[in-house]
Amino acid sequence: MVTTNTNPTLILGAGPAGLAAGYYLSHSGFRPLLLEAADEPGGFARTYTHREFRYDAGAHRFHDKDPEITSDLKRLMGPRLLHARAPSQICWKNTFLDFPLSPLDLIIKMGVGDISRAAWDLVRARCSRSKEQDHTLETQALHRYGKAIANSFLIGYSEKLWGVPANRLLPEVSGGRLKGLTARTVFYELVKGKRSKTAHLDGSFYYPRNGYGEIADHLAEAIGRDNILTRRTISRISHDRGRLVSIHIDGVTLDADEVVSTLGPLRFLSLLDPKPPRDILDAASSLKFRDLLLVVVFLNRPRVSNNASIYFPSLQFPFTRLHEPKNRSPEMAPPNQTCVVVEIPCFPNDPICLLPHHVIAENTIEQIESLNLFKGSEVIDTKIHYLSSAYPVLEIGSEALVESVMNYLRGFENLHTVGRAGRFEYKHVHDLMKQGKELAARLTDRHSPSASRDSE
Ligand SMILES: Cc1cc2nc3c(=O)[nH]c(=O)nc-3n(C[C@H](O)[C@H](O)[C@H](O)COP(=O)(O)OP(=O)(O)OC[C@H]3O[C@@H](n4cnc5c(N)ncnc54)[C@H](O)[C@@H]3O)c2cc1C
Repeated sequence: MVTTNTNPTLILGAGPAGLAAGYYLSHSGFRPLLLEAADEPGGFARTYTHREFRYDAGAHRFHDKDPEITSDLKRLMGPRLLHARAPSQICWKNTFLDFPLSPLDLIIKMGVGDISRAAWDLVRARCSRSKEQDHTLETQALHRYGKAIANSFLIGYSEKLWGVPANRLLPEVSGGRLKGLTARTVFYELVKGKRSKTAHLDGSFYYPRNGYGEIADHLAEAIGRDNILTRRTISRISHDRGRLVSIHIDGVTLDADEVVSTLGPLRFLSLLDPKPPRDILDAASSLKFRDLLLVVVFLNRPRVSNNASIYFPSLQFPFTRLHEPKNRSPEMAPPNQTCVVVEIPCFPNDPICLLPHHVIAENTIEQIESLNLFKGSEVIDTKIHYLSSAYPVLEIGSEALVESVMNYLRGFENLHTVGRAGRFEYKHVHDLMKQGKELAARLTDRHSPSASRDSE
């Protein structure tokens, strides 16, 4: 238990990263105080409600990648956490293929001509493969999967999602999207059929009954709602001799002992007083974020499909993904109705962002109708959300910029950065929980009585 700190640990931002840090810190005896600009905590991992529907800010699932963090989450959520099972598909030339790609399904649905070309490309790519060349998403995809598969399913999709040519994107952005397509899965599926798919590929994942935002709600309850100040925008962060001294919000000044920031680099740096050096500000302003338009379509029909998500690599559509919340938890929509959430990645000045919302909704409905997923006459309502800075764009050169910004921030001895924007990393909620847990352990060590004796 920590006994030395008197002021609360200030946490800037109450998205999953800030909440996770607050949760683990309070378990370690710290007193966290979260400062959040929005009207409620949760960041991009919150769940919206409209009429009798619930939906998340884009397709979310809890990835069971770290047993210790998964068991922490199970303890936190208890019976509210469902073990969901729902497959996903990818829309390719107006047919729907299993996703992640399954070799057997590809053979059945692509036809002999296309699949032989793809197989030939794959063999050639594997023979000429050199891992050293895999330093962009494009080269990695071409070497790993061959031209036909890479172009059809990964390269165009990634360019649409990130808004940058694939030969400028770092391989990390693929997020393991074609993981299922390995020599091993080809063999097992051909010999044993689809049932041989691995647990990761069969579409099982954790998901809270009332939407992904319930994770944020449980973290917030555990921290104590009184320790989370919402609708508070930070206006200035004063610093002196390598320490953050105070945080200014709405005319109030809070003394800073330890500060945890989840804010994006530019946002954080532009609040600093005195201002950071010009080259650091320039580096932070060169880091790009991708925004997302969410089009939510509410439907008078029980279901659209049984998929968790459907992916759209074709450039014919502006959207990359659609998800049907009801297939994650039945409590997301009334029994005879459903809704779909369509994700359109964009930058703020893209032509699509300048269209009136009703036009964006009408166009989206028309495009999805053309795929026979639902009929226009079944639409009962629509809603549009604009998510600013949803994804950090990891492109060639961004690593050096991030390093120089982080190096500058490491110069503040009482500042700790966590989070997707905070560290400019493509991370998920289980990663952010891990970051929070590791931070709490580090701060516990730092504030333990023996650490103060050692430093004397
Ligand atoms: C479409 C989409 C799908 C995703 N799918 C998954 C998934 O399936 N599984 C998964 O684990 N993760 C998923 N994620 C990622 C997950 O939502 C993010 O990792 C997470 O939201 C990032 O958390 P964060 O706390 O770092 O940042 P954010 O969620 O961005 O939270 C930052 C918070 O800081 C607040 N803030 C900003 N500026 C200020 C200021 N000046 N003063 C006070 N407060 C401020 C914001 O209001 C916000 O609440 C997805 C994300 C998106 C966008």
